[in-house]
Amino acid sequence: MKYELVSGFETHIELQTKTKIFCGCTTQFGGEPNTHCCPVCIGLPGTLPVLNREVVRFAIKAGLAVHGEIASVAKMDRKNYCYPDLSKAYQISQLYAPLIIGGYVELSSGKKIRLHHIHIEEDAGKLIHRHGDTYVDYNRGGVPLIEIVSEPDIRSVDEAREYVEKLQQVMRYIGISDCRMQEGSMRCDVNVSVRPEGSETFGTRTEIKNMNSITNIVKAMEYEYDRQVDLIESGGKVVQETLRYDDVSGTTSSMRSKEDAHDYRYFRDPDLVTINIPREEVEALRAEMPELPADKCRRYIDALGIPEKDAQLLTKYRRISEFFDAAIEGVKSPKTVSNFIIGQMFRRAETESDKEQFDLPTTPQQLNALVKLLDSGKIRNNLAKATLEKMLDTGKPATDFISESDMGGVDDNALLALCKAAIEGNAKAVADFRGGKEKALKALVGNVMKNSRGKADAQAAEAKIKELLG
Ligand code: ADP
Ligand code: MG
Ligand code: ZN
Repeated sequence: MKYELVSGFETHIELQTKTKIFCGCTTQFGGEPNTHCCPVCIGLPGTLPVLNREVVRFAIKAGLAVHGEIASVAKMDRKNYCYPDLSKAYQISQLYAPLIIGGYVELSSGKKIRLHHIHIEEDAGKLIHRHGDTYVDYNRGGVPLIEIVSEPDIRSVDEAREYVEKLQQVMRYIGISDCRMQEGSMRCDVNVSVRPEGSETFGTRTEIKNMNSITNIVKAMEYEYDRQVDLIESGGKVVQETLRYDDVSGTTSSMRSKEDAHDYRYFRDPDLVTINIPREEVEALRAEMPELPADKCRRYIDALGIPEKDAQLLTKYRRISEFFDAAIEGVKSPKTVSNFIIGQMFRRAETESDKEQFDLPTTPQQLNALVKLLDSGKIRNNLAKATLEKMLDTGKPATDFISESDMGGVDDNALLALCKAAIEGNAKAVADFRGGKEKALKALVGNVMKNSRGKADAQAAEAKIKELLG
């Protein structure tokens, strides 16, 4: 029998607010253990949390970016559980009245992965296992998170990968998080079940906790799919449980049997007031939103004539798309600019964080000036390419590497004059060409190249000569 994979994701994203969700401590990553903490975020008696407004604003932006509905009223709840990384023995989260309801992430196929809701909550601390001992660092405790809960709409590992990448991309664009999976600022709980193809009901799911790389998500899902199918095929039953993925062995193992919401004895946090969200505030945030990557990508394809694959590369990181936007100002063909960026500049921004920063020595204005020289016919493509390399090496403008003589003689008028001269001075080649010898054209182009001391564009010269003879 063939089985279909069914998956839903719970994605935690750390928000880049300056301070924590309920106190004034810094949210900075790292730091000496237990130096970014105070009595509030470790929950000492006698302290009271106060909600950071910026967290609500960031979460609303996240909601708008995924087309969710922004609640008018939201509340904070306590999720009770005991673990050494959570000194209060409860996490302040949202269950009954989350900030964002619904929404979706659209994949490139056009399929929409629906979202159930997005809520805000505090992060827990971190356990560090070393030399057979366990230490606890509360620096991360109280760092604001949003949790994005999808519907079980994902049907393959490819859809899962794209879902995570799209979320990562859009949340980075709106500037609420760096979404670095390896640093833990984006983590996914991956729910997996299988069912016979064609079946309408869902199978029992397992939940793989805290996945911190897309590669591991894919491997864990593949492993879990096979494990569940084998189990069912051999007459067994999938047990609903929480799993951990071990990336060394590439297998999942049980952490605990799955608890339900009621096990956490959620209740309204009596220390925090109801959050009212005025519609004017939502509209003000909507007005502040940048153009979203999906819209940008569409516009590059439809309005600028950029091939789809290139448009995707240009919009994957916000800084790159902004570089492109600035560099195409007034140029004849945005595609030329795109080719320079993808063909030459990408090689100098290899890692993901390089691409995120896109902080190369050449400015968009410098690239723009180079492309305008090319547009005007003053320089040829090969010279432009070589010049860009030198620009990228030094941060200097194109004009530092291109002399007046490089630029002289090959603008449109000069090219016309050279072509006319070649035709007049080579009656035999002209006659041969007219007689059907295509090759004779080469001699004429060669003449233009010689008289321009190699600075004319051979293709342009050929086209011009054909036009003159045609
Ligand atoms: P809980 O809050 O107990 O983890 P939820 O019902 O809210 O449970 O679901 C959590 C996640 O599990 C959601 O992302 C949802 O899409 C996913 N999910 C629910 N049922 C299934 C299933 N049968 N197979 C795969 N994923 C599922
Ligand atoms: Mg869950
Ligand atoms: Zn604190």
